[in-house]
Formats: sequence, structure tokens, C-alpha cells
Amino acid sequence: MIWDPFYECMDPEERAQLQVRRLRETVARVKANVPWYRERLREKCIAPEDITSLDDLRHLPFTTKVDLRDNYPFGLFAIPPEECVRIHASSGTTGKPVIAGYAREDIGIWAETIARTIACGGGTSHDVLHNAYGYGLFTGGLGLHYGGELMGCLVVPVSGGNTERQLMLMEDLGSSILCCTPSYALTIVDEADELGFDLSRINLKSGLFGAEPWSEGARESIEERLGLSAHDIYGLTEIIGPGVAAECGAKAGLHVFDDHFIPEIIDPETEESLPPGEKGELVFTCISKRAFPVLRFRTRDITKLDYEVCECGRTQPRMERITGRTDDMLIIRGVNVFPSQIEEVLLKIEEVEPHYQLVLTREGRLDNLEVQVEVSPAMFSDEVRKLEAIEEKIRERLSSALNIRVDVKLVEPKTIERFAGKAKRVVDMREEA
Ligand code: ADP
Ligand code: ZN
Repeated sequence: MIWDPFYECMDPEERAQLQVRRLRETVARVKANVPWYRERLREKCIAPEDITSLDDLRHLPFTTKVDLRDNYPFGLFAIPPEECVRIHASSGTTGKPVIAGYAREDIGIWAETIARTIACGGGTSHDVLHNAYGYGLFTGGLGLHYGGELMGCLVVPVSGGNTERQLMLMEDLGSSILCCTPSYALTIVDEADELGFDLSRINLKSGLFGAEPWSEGARESIEERLGLSAHDIYGLTEIIGPGVAAECGAKAGLHVFDDHFIPEIIDPETEESLPPGEKGELVFTCISKRAFPVLRFRTRDITKLDYEVCECGRTQPRMERITGRTDDMLIIRGVNVFPSQIEEVLLKIEEVEPHYQLVLTREGRLDNLEVQVEVSPAMFSDEVRKLEAIEEKIRERLSSALNIRVDVKLVEPKTIERFAGKAKRVVDMREEA
């Protein structure tokens, strides 16, 4: 089912006109109401009436995470905070949180884009939506919640944690859609094994997993163990929360809901926009929000866009799965390494579990990366010689995938931290050295 065929399957030309109109209105509104944007627009010598096509986007100023922090907490709101009905804050993966404000209309838009997201994952009003994203300032919980209600699902607002209880509820309530971070989905599988809980007792048909990067390998293991179809969903607090883009049944990229959020790809170094199909930093401009519409927000996420019409019938462009952010890229002895590349390799190795940690240290002037990964319980009892052979195999595969030498350390099952929300896999000890 497509939630809103009018917008999701709109003729691209027609949508471009809608986007230009909404963009012009948004620029006029931030110019009138946000002194910081007024100043930036003045510097760039651009006025709302100069915007006549989507090409003009490139003349608008960027907004960065630093700009949002400098204007903390309400400086970039386009309406007085007392006219907002809610705030959320980013999880602060990379520092101080960013406060996002929502007017009543914005909550409505958000619920719509989440309903589209749920429909992308095959959901309908008959579904029981088990929502294990964290409730609170984090956008995941309440975001999925309101969209689920709008769609007419039976929403189970369980939030993260207490996995045993989650398993019981999924079984007893007949949950059909699981919403959580991909790392929590793996934690659920793991804990079910530990508890001796037979996963065939739950009857999930699909999963909406996002908020952090995950790999095809993780998708395969989650789908196989939970017996569901796993869909990648994407969003960020600065733009609205989840509900910015979602993967349909074709699983060939995430449809960006670009009647609300216009995506662009730029070269992170030169800041030039790149043509469709080229990989670079994803940038979003909000064109329908009232309280907190940001212009050209630099997400630091790396991807590319595909404007071909999808086999599902949606005409909205698709972004490739995010493989990392510019700021989680590790530079090890001059080579760029994304944690997702390591995950991709590890998940193809049968003898280890999808639980790993990357420890960075500095010896003299040389960076060193140690990949710690759990061996599967069956393997752990094996002889040392066999374990050494597994370590060697992983080391070889990682070296050829990354083009650098890394250390590999197998660790006992259940020794690496489990996550109910976003995973933190990189331990960087280089500063202290
Ligand atoms: P923070 O930036 O503090 O983590 P958010 O909770 O708003 O705040 O997280 C948004 C970020 O999470 C995105 O910019 C992106 O890096 C990551 N993210 C969200 N969804 C996905 C996804 N499906 N795949 C990869 N990364 C994702
Ligand atoms: Zn599609």
C-alpha cells in the first residue's frame, strides 16, 4: 500500500513546481522571522523572489550542526517557542544536543511521513506496531508512535529495554511490526537465545530499523532470525526525526519524502552540489515545516541519490543506504575507514557474532585499530589453534577490504556491550595517548 499516492507518486515535474513554491515561501518566512537566516541571506545577496527553480537552491546558505549549537536553544525557530507544542532533542551522539521545535502542523506532517514510512514497510491499519524506539526527547519513540496511530495501527509504546518483557508482549499481543534500532533487533535475537525463547512464538512480518548505520549482512541475520522483512528507515532530529526517508518493498534505496524535505548531495570539501548519482554529503532543506525549517542542513551522512522511478510506483527519489557519516569516518594511517565496512566483513564470517567494537590507539605516531569481535558460543569451546585460524581469516579479509592492517581479537560470547538504542562501537583512545 502507498499511504499518499498523490504526493508519493506525483509527476516529478509537477512536484518540482510544488517544491519551488514551498521553498520560496519558506525562505520568505525565515527571512522575516529568523534574524540569523536574514543575515545569511543578506550575505549571499539572495531574496525569496530570486528563487524560480530548484537550481536556485545552491545559492542558499548552508546550516551546520555548529550553527544550531550557536543558536541554542531557540535561536533558529521561525515562530515563538510558546507557539510550539513540542520539542525534541538529538541524541547527542556527537556532542551537545540540538533542540528542535514543532508546531501543531509540524506534528501532523511528521505523522504523515511516518505513516508513509510504515506503508513502505508493508504496514496497514491492521498491524500491531511494537515500538521499541526510545520514548522521550529522542525522536524515534514518539515519531513512530504518532504515525502508527494516524495509520490506524494498534501501537504498543514499549520503548527500549527489558527485552524479556518485550518478547512476552510481542507474543501475547500478536505484534506484526517491530520498530527499533538494528542493534536492538540483534540484542533481542541474542537475548531470546539466552532465555531459551523460541522466536517462532512471535509472528512479526516486518521491521522498521533505523537511527544508525547497519549493513546488508545485519539485514540478513535479522530477517533470518526474526522471520521478517527488514526495512531501513532514515531521519534526523534537525529535519523532523524519523520519517525523512524509508525503504519500500523493492529494497533498492530509501524514498526521500521530498515534497517536505529537498535532498541534495554536495562535495563535503568544496561544498559544490553534485549531479544525481554521485556520492557525497547529504543536505536537506525543509520546505513545509512551520516552527523549525532549516535551509540546506549538512547532515554529514554520506550517500547518493537515484531519481529513476521505482518499481513500487513511487516517484520520490531514493537515497542509497547510509554507510557512514563524515564524522564517524576513521582515518587510520591515512586511510579512510567507515565502521560499516568492517561490519560488512564481520557479518559474512560464520564463526563470529554480530557484536563488535573498534578500539583505536596510537603507538608513537601510528594509529592502530583493533577489531574486537565475539566468537559464537559453539566456537568458543574449540581449541586455541582453531580460534587463531579464525582470527587470521578475519584479519586477512579486513586487510583486503580496507587496505590497511588491523589487529583482530576474538572475545568471549556476551562480553561486548549490548544496546537498546543506538550502538556505540568506536572506542577512541588516541587523545589520551
Ligand atoms: P545525533 O546526530 O545526535 O545522532 P539523531 O538522533 O537525530 O541525532 O540522529 C540522526 C543521525 O542518525 C543521522 O544523521 C544519521 O547519521 C543516523 N541515522 C539515522 N537513520 C539512519 C539509517 N537508517 N542509517 C544510517 N544512519 C542513520
Ligand atoms: Zn520504491
